Amino acid sequence: MDYSVYHNCLRIQITPDEWQDERIEAICKHCAEYGFDNVMLMLNLEEFHCGHISIEEEKKWIAVLKKAAAALREKGITVSVNNWIEMGHADRGRQFAADQQFTPMVDPYGRAATAVPCPLCKNWRAYFAEYVTLLCKELEPDTYWIEDDFRLMNHAPLRSAGCFCDLHMADYNKRLGTSYTREEFVKKLLTLGPCNRERRAWLDSNRDVMVGLADEIAKTVKKVCPNTDVAIMTSGPEQHCMEARDWPALFEALSQDGGHKINRIHLP
Ligand SMILES: [Zn+2]
Repeated sequence: MDYSVYHNCLRIQITPDEWQDERIEAICKHCAEYGFDNVMLMLNLEEFHCGHISIEEEKKWIAVLKKAAAALREKGITVSVNNWIEMGHADRGRQFAADQQFTPMVDPYGRAATAVPCPLCKNWRAYFAEYVTLLCKELEPDTYWIEDDFRLMNHAPLRSAGCFCDLHMADYNKRLGTSYTREEFVKKLLTLGPCNRERRAWLDSNRDVMVGLADEIAKTVKKVCPNTDVAIMTSGPEQHCMEARDWPALFEALSQDGGHKINRIHLP
């Protein structure tokens, strides 16, 4: 997509059901009437969200999105794609499927998520790479959008920020040369006063993990679609700064191999 000019982008999902053809037709008309030149096709979104869906479920969404992409492109409207989740926004009563051996995110008080995996979880990363590969291969979007669930805070019902699962505790202890339990580490982390060793290790870990994940997602997309841009939604940037987000490194990772640096800001 040409990012040297302004685009009017419609962000919408088309559910795989008996109304899909009517919806696609209506969206094409709507775009022509209201001057949208790009449609961000979304799937498994909001009220229709079923957690980390299987590849078989994903294929049902892809079938309808492919149909929509073809109809839109025929009218000169470009197509980007947004899966709505990476790790996931919040549990909202959902659970990992029985065959998903994902390590859940854990808050500083020891509560584990039921539907949000830790970004260090190798099983989730392998699943997500397969999922994104198929999505991009089939849709060949101009842009692959990462949603604002790409974060270590605000994953209700987990409290506070950061992950304190066993994988993360091992990472913090490795950086510090210690063998803290979660409780011991959190107590040090939350000590008032200047940044101590523990807080520094936590901040460094947050940066490394999230930039590493951005790099992996971008490489996954680029492997099947070398010309697709990888973009991100950055709502609440001041909160992301609190978890030590490294903005230049993040956008360098996402725009690797000649991509654009694209930030979808959160207007509210
Ligand atoms: Zn973790």
